[in-house]
Amino acid sequence: MQTVENSLIKEQLTETIKFFSKKGWSPATSTNYSHRCSNNPENLIISRSGVDKSQFKASDFIQINLAGEILSSDSPEFKSSAETEIHTYLYQKFPGIKCVLHTHSVLGTVLSQKFVSEKQIVFQNYEIIKGIEGNHTHDTNLYLPIVKNSQNMKDINFELEHHFQRLGEFSGFLIAGHGLYAWGKDLFSAKRHIETFEFLLECESIKGNLAWRS
Ligand SMILES: [Zn+2]
Repeated sequence: MQTVENSLIKEQLTETIKFFSKKGWSPATSTNYSHRCSNNPENLIISRSGVDKSQFKASDFIQINLAGEILSSDSPEFKSSAETEIHTYLYQKFPGIKCVLHTHSVLGTVLSQKFVSEKQIVFQNYEIIKGIEGNHTHDTNLYLPIVKNSQNMKDINFELEHHFQRLGEFSGFLIAGHGLYAWGKDLFSAKRHIETFEFLLECESIKGNLAWRS
């Protein structure tokens, strides 16, 4: 059911999708975005598959349930992303998550390949670490887990589950050679997490280049 609150969420999420697109984080119709519905937390709105994100509109969201079944859409042609199962897994595992965002930046793609054998990137001594919920100092280790890429989302969720067992709850992860997922208790928090991780990836990339040149 369409509500005023759901309409507002769609508008705000559309703004974020376009902002990420301008950053170059969603080339060639890639990436996907979702939010719990305001009137029923068991349902989600999620970006439909195959849309140029620079042209994304509020009508490009479809409504699904946690089983991934489409409940409503503006066209019978609209399809949910192949990666929907990652979104539904996260929402089912953590009731406090309200928004899940995904980017395909160059740095997320390349650095996740570079560090895949270590299964994580560890960020240290960056002030912006405080951008991730629960961190109040730069003087800590921030872990960004990495899972292998797969066209079978069950493989990705299986590896992700191991990271949750090892680290407890965290706010984002990388898929190797693919991109970044981050989430939060609302859109504002999820967007801040994406921006924080993308900023940190850029810092690590520049540091790696400096070391290589010296
Ligand atoms: Zn993707």
